[in-house]
Amino acid sequence: MVPTEQQIAEWLDATFKPSADHQCLHCGGTTGVLLPFGGRESRHVWLHGACWPAHMAARRRAAVAALSAAAAKQPADQPALF
Ligand SMILES: [Zn+2]
Repeated sequence: MVPTEQQIAEWLDATFKPSADHQCLHCGGTTGVLLPFGGRESRHVWLHGACWPAHMAARRRAAVAALSAAAAKQPADQPALF
């Protein structure tokens, strides 16, 4: 099963982990321009602009893997949870 965009967004939100203040969550760097990424003031991560695409791609791959594994474990006679 391929997860839907909504399922992926929900997984990303549910597994959100904040970064340390002013430290890039992707590379761990503290120098250079760090930008807050996230929709809410209290829930954002710090990333270099150049690190954002790789970070998001990795998070998305993790979401697809986790949701696909969860779907594969569900019994065939049970309604899908994801
Ligand atoms: Zn970085």
